Amino acid sequence: MSNRLLERLSLVTTNAEHVTHEVILLNLTVVNAFLVGDPFADSKDFILVDTGMENSFNFILEVVNKHYGKDIRPRCIVLTHGHFDHVGSVIKLAEYWDVPVYVHELELPYVTGRKDYPLADPRIGGKVAEMSPSFPHTSIDLGERVFALPQDGKIPGIPGWRWIHTPGHTEGHISLFHDLDRVLIAGDVISTTKQESLMAVLTRKQEISGPPAYLTEDWNKVLSSIKHLQSLDPAIILPSHGKPLRGLKVKEHLDMLVSKIEKML
Ligand SMILES: [Zn+2]
Ligand SMILES: [Zn+2]
Repeated sequence: MSNRLLERLSLVTTNAEHVTHEVILLNLTVVNAFLVGDPFADSKDFILVDTGMENSFNFILEVVNKHYGKDIRPRCIVLTHGHFDHVGSVIKLAEYWDVPVYVHELELPYVTGRKDYPLADPRIGGKVAEMSPSFPHTSIDLGERVFALPQDGKIPGIPGWRWIHTPGHTEGHISLFHDLDRVLIAGDVISTTKQESLMAVLTRKQEISGPPAYLTEDWNKVLSSIKHLQSLDPAIILPSHGKPLRGLKVKEHLDMLVSKIEKML
């Protein structure tokens, strides 16, 4: 699955929907991004979480204009991690709005051109990675626009939310959590779609709907990250890949995921 194919797929059906009173899910087909912040509040403070592929720029602006008002910009952009399908429009958007970008400090080298992502865990992704030499592992360079998230767990612009370090898929992967409503923006730690399904011909191990397997670095860390998120007892999970999970499905999915990964390790 090449970068270009994903770009094309991501044009197929884009849409935006309110998934909670303060989260708008931007469905960019191959990946989701999120606008977080109540559009009806007086402050109009909101942030953008992840930025989809390179061609998501116009759609993201459209949704922001429609829901928050024309010429209104977010307080910042937060990246769950620096993989290409999450950072495609980040440079263009950050420059257009003139806003800072935040990532976990361990992810900083990957979004400032100092480090490339390692190849996937050979137990799962290796075969696929080997067979797809064009698979994008290169990083982008956000230069002086990008900062480490505040140490205290707070997220600039959206009080009530905090970031949680959920390493494993990448070193500095984060999830976002709203304690009062127990809303979890999971990033790539939990997916509800099989990202590998297009690669079914290449690999037989594609049943796990955790993080996209071909890019995941450390499954032991993924397991502890999922257990950490499980302990927060989320009421709704918003993954980067796939549809939101609510109600009983949350516990069911997390239990299934933990036992599948435990069996695999
Ligand atoms: Zn990823
Ligand atoms: Zn992803």
